[in-house]
Parts: sequence; structure tokens; C-alpha cells
Amino acid sequence: MTHMTWGTIATWRMAHEGVVKASELLAQDASAGDAVEALINLVEAYPYYKSVGFGGLPNEEGVVEMDAAFMDGDTLAQGAVAGIHNVMHAVSVARALSAEHYNSFRVGAGATKFAQLQGFEMTNMLTPRAKQVWLNRLAEMRDQDLNPYDGHDTVGAITLNKQGSMAAATSTSGLFMKKAGRVGDSPLSGSGYYVDSTIGGAAATGLGEDIMKGCLAYEIVRRMGEGQTPQQACDAAVYPFIEKLRRRYGKAGEFSLIAMNHQGEWGVATNVEFTFSVATQGNPARILLANPGPDQTTTIEPITQDWLDAYEKRIKAPVPGLADPARN
Ligand code: ASP
Repeated sequence: MTHMTWGTIATWRMAHEGVVKASELLAQDASAGDAVEALINLVEAYPYYKSVGFGGLPNEEGVVEMDAAFMDGDTLAQGAVAGIHNVMHAVSVARALSAEHYNSFRVGAGATKFAQLQGFEMTNMLTPRAKQVWLNRLAEMRDQDLNPYDGHDTVGAITLNKQGSMAAATSTSGLFMKKAGRVGDSPLSGSGYYVDSTIGGAAATGLGEDIMKGCLAYEIVRRMGEGQTPQQACDAAVYPFIEKLRRRYGKAGEFSLIAMNHQGEWGVATNVEFTFSVATQGNPARILLANPGPDQTTTIEPITQDWLDAYEKRIKAPVPGLADPARN
């Protein structure tokens, strides 16, 4: 049977232009891997997204350390990097590593060296804007008793092409003010991402330390494999787990999961206001807003223009202390 439907879903409003791009590629018969990489590359290169790639916020020492992963849903090949430095497109490095049977998940200096030797674009990822945000936070933390860890977000995406092949990928600069060497869920198989073309895929964003405790991406794919729809699988994997964490660990960080199955049906679950972008054949890319709903369900509504305008203003807001405050 020829597979005809394509689809893609990705975390946060920041992924939207990437979802548009991936839709164009998928409509033209691109591979699922090319589409997911192109989607994430756009987010990585955009300087105003402060949790991914160029312009991403640094660790507490002022160093931008990135985590990324790529998975091919046909072969189950995976590649990942953690704590990589100075590379424009961490997800492309992860994809290159997915071609290796050995050494396919690399960290720190080894990951950075691999990227350099392979000729990936290397650049200082700490923009003046991100550096100033970091300096301001250091000052705030000196002056007030603040939890330093309140900035993060990952771009995570799933693609399904017309041939029925799927791919998943993630990229993030991780938790703002993290300790050097801290790694989140995003490069970890089964926690931050998972995909199997015969079933579907899932990806996560949010507090990695807690997402890992539930291997949530794998759990969603497993549930879809047992016949649940993506929305059922997301709700059933995420909400009881949040309760379990609260009961047994005492608290649960914020997190959100997305999923798409091999027929292009999709779902999300979240314990915080969460935007995402989704497109399938016949349904052009659109940004939707999800929130936890009643009785372990998720409410999903279209985004409003007001929300989008406020977002645009927020990401480009002048940063106090920056010589040219509007600079990226
Ligand atoms: N999951 C990422 C991490 O823990 C950050 C995020 O998506 O918010 O590094």
C-alpha cells in the first residue's frame, strides 16, 4: 500500500517557521530526516530564540552548551550530542553521528572536535544579547534570593513523509544557568525523543531532570504501538506521571510532550501553557495553544493574534545594559 499522508509537529511557537519549511519539503517528497533537520536548523539559527542554538542562553559560567539528537524511524539509527560548544547546528552533528554504529552519542570536547573535523559551521554561539541576559541574571542572583533556573525550552520535532518514513529530532541550549556539564533529556533516547516509523514518534520539552524520570517519549510511542491515538497516549503517559512525581518525589517541573503517529494523527500533553506548530497534508502549518484540561486531558485552541504580538515583543524586548538594547 502506498503511503500518502505526510505530517510534522514541533514544540513551541519558535518552531513554526521550521514547520512551514518542513511542510514544503514533505509536500515535495523530501525524506523525513531532511525535513526534520531543516525544521530544527531554522530554529537554531534564529538569534532571538534564547533556548536553542545561536543566541541560546549560556550555563552559569557564560558558556553556551548545547544538546541535540536525531533519530531515523525506519532504521532506529540514533545520533546525539551533549554539551557541545561553538557549533551552529547541533542537530546536524547529531544526524551525522546517527550514521555511526559506534560512538554515535558524543559529549563535550569530543562532540565539538567531531563537528570541527567534519567541517560543520563553527561559531561563537554567545550573542551580545544572550551574554547581557546572563550578566543581568548573575547580578540579580547576587542581589536577590532567586531560583536561577527559570529559562529553558527545546525545539523537538517529528516528521512523517509520503513514503511513511518518520524521523525525530531535538535541539536545545538546555537550562539557563545550568552547571557546566549538565545534560537534560533532549539528547537522551526515550526521554527527549523517540520514533519508530511503524508506530509514530514523540518529543519532549521542559525540565529534563523530571522528563527523564518517566522516559516519556518512549512511553508515548509504546502506548501508540498498543493502539492508543497520539492524544490518548500523551494524556495517559503524562498526567498520571505528573501525579506520581508529585506524590513520590514531592514536586514536578514543567514539561510538555508532542506526538505524531504513522498516519499523521497527532497529540500533545502538558502541565503548563504550551504552544506548538503542526501541519499535515491538507492542513497547513498552524500554531496552537495547549493547556492542561480537566480530568487528565489537554485543551487545545488556536493561537490569538494578541498572543503572537505579545510573544514577538517579548523575545525582542530591549535588554537592560546592552549598548544597543535592541541588538540580537
Ligand atoms: N528539556 C530541556 C532540558 O532540560 C530544556 C527544555 O526543553 O525546556 O535541557
